[in-house]
Amino acid sequence: MRAALADLGGAVRLVFLGGLGEIGRNCACIEVAGRILILDCGLMFPDTEMPGIDLVLPDFTYLLDNRDRVEACVLTHGHEDHVGGLPFLLRHLRVPVYGSPLTLGLARHRIEEAGLLGQTELHPVHDGERRQIGPFDVEFIPVTHSVPHGFATAFHTPQGVILHSGDFKLDLTPVDGRSTDLARIGAIATDEGVRLLLSDSTNAEEAGHTLSERVVGRVLNDLFAAYQGRRVIVTCFASHIHRIQQIANAAVAHGRAIATVGRSMGKNVALARTMGLLAIPDGALVDVEKIGDLEPGEVCIISTGSQGEPMSALALMAAGESKWVTVGEGDIVILSSHAIPGNEANVGKVIDGLYRLGAEVVHSGVAEVHVSGHAKREELKTLLSIARPDAFIPVHGEFRHLTHHARLATEMGVARSRVLLAEDGDVVELRDNSIDFVDEVPAGYLYVDGIVGDVGRGVLRDRRVLAEEGVVVVVVTVDAKSGEVLTGPEIITRGWVFAPEAEALIDEARAAVVASLEEAADSGGTDYETLKRHARSALGRFVNERTRRRPMIVPVVMEV
Ligand SMILES: [Zn+2]
Ligand SMILES: [Zn+2]
Repeated sequence: MRAALADLGGAVRLVFLGGLGEIGRNCACIEVAGRILILDCGLMFPDTEMPGIDLVLPDFTYLLDNRDRVEACVLTHGHEDHVGGLPFLLRHLRVPVYGSPLTLGLARHRIEEAGLLGQTELHPVHDGERRQIGPFDVEFIPVTHSVPHGFATAFHTPQGVILHSGDFKLDLTPVDGRSTDLARIGAIATDEGVRLLLSDSTNAEEAGHTLSERVVGRVLNDLFAAYQGRRVIVTCFASHIHRIQQIANAAVAHGRAIATVGRSMGKNVALARTMGLLAIPDGALVDVEKIGDLEPGEVCIISTGSQGEPMSALALMAAGESKWVTVGEGDIVILSSHAIPGNEANVGKVIDGLYRLGAEVVHSGVAEVHVSGHAKREELKTLLSIARPDAFIPVHGEFRHLTHHARLATEMGVARSRVLLAEDGDVVELRDNSIDFVDEVPAGYLYVDGIVGDVGRGVLRDRRVLAEEGVVVVVVTVDAKSGEVLTGPEIITRGWVFAPEAEALIDEARAAVVASLEEAADSGGTDYETLKRHARSALGRFVNERTRRRPMIVPVVMEV
């Protein structure tokens, strides 16, 4: 059934490798004339079901299997869920990368850390620019989002225009004056028509409009006025340059010096200032080591750790372990952020820690100190009404977000048969008279622990069992010929029972193992595998019957 991959005729393909059915690891491929363009290469942060995992990547099998056909990678914006997977891909695949100067600047930190900067071509593209990249005719359309210089991308293909919204909101009063270019999208819709729209579904369940970023500026200003004389610590995403700008504005207006804490905050502030995207007067910035010389009311600390990440600057402050900032009575901590699903518990822990130290905490549940970077339903409808697409695929969201967005598109007049609810791994083909699912490619999770993605599902399952039930190891030496037990069995356990207090139980377990090995030997089963199997099942049965627990059982049988 599989059509020869390089031979698509005039057809255009989309291959979804991540971000459809989850928030994170956004990655899609567009294929024109047999060539592949990768649109974003993001990572996802692990949930509590993934012990020891640092991050989750898209499965790159499809790209590596088709490495000769890969033309380029285009980045829509600089968030980790869109660029964070890139260094891992670049380790295996050399590919030129396109994006706005800021996006490339943010991705560059990562690529540099991976030691791949020397071998990676980075091509900056600008608002409204239209570029020919191999057979791809790509137009970069400005959109507003929670990081500056985000793009929607329009691919002018043999099958018409494929418009990808990127992450966006319709902020009519953006902090930097750079709005989503709805006029250009309207012009494309009128001139060429939009054959297919792919659009951000993150907030597809939320009614109304997302508030303008400017609202946060006013609230921050009021808070700084209210807390005059007290030290203010504000945390937000380090890539949220507009937010940082507004925090800085409020600080400067109230006569405070600004110190950054957290590696990425310092780096990004420096990067955005050199690019002219962040205006903080030189005199207003102060090294965090110097804040001790200032009165509490003369300083504003901008910190990382808005998601409660355990080793982040704010989490260390909340635990009283920060090298730079000792939080105490009178301090005000503003969480200018919203917990990403899965991070609520960590954020809660940080807030508790801050209160315990005597600080006052202001978060988005208390005051409007955060607004989303993603379009809500009315904005999604606006984009649909301006783009007037022939076909629609919701992207960027969990399945329920995609479902709601798909329904919205149908309500807005896109033919039901041309609204595709695609998921990771789906291959969609556009032909002259059709749009359809045609294939599936591997798109499972690639788990990264440390710096390599070699943690398989089996390893994760083991970690879960170890974390929840513990392990019981039985070591026994047997005679290779007779199967007779020569030494042991010795039973070692972690997490099943506390061994020193359960000697009797452990003795019984040993007896159960001996009995099963004797039984095996009596019936002629003296080979290593049989003995191991007997030891495991006897011990497993014993443990379960006596304690109703299911630890991992590891039999070690040595033959002499
Ligand atoms: Zn984003
Ligand atoms: Zn995103």
